[in-house]
Amino acid sequence: MSKLGCECGYVIRDNTDDLPHKASFIPDKLDYQMLDEIKTRIENYKEKLNLGEKVYDDYLFDLISTVDLKFRKDIYECINCGRLWLQTASGNFISYLSETGKYEAILDVDN
Ligand SMILES: [Zn+2]
Repeated sequence: MSKLGCECGYVIRDNTDDLPHKASFIPDKLDYQMLDEIKTRIENYKEKLNLGEKVYDDYLFDLISTVDLKFRKDIYECINCGRLWLQTASGNFISYLSETGKYEAILDVDN
């Protein structure tokens, strides 16, 4: 997602890293599927090595560091009204209105 129009009229943008109003989550029902995927990728890596195949230096890191992309969902907090936007299984977003009606920076680890 590069931008999301909030119900309040604010446009939530996602065009850089380290956004304080963005986080990701892994649905609980996908936890073990993700771990199985990591295990499979490691086993495939070991098999390549056992077969004597050459891999580039960061090959294993690239394999593992991208696993979550397949499973994670995004969540945004509107900095104007505090509404949370959660990504659904289908990839769309649905919102939940904050009870305070304001931005609480709940996704900001420096908060
Ligand atoms: Zn908003």
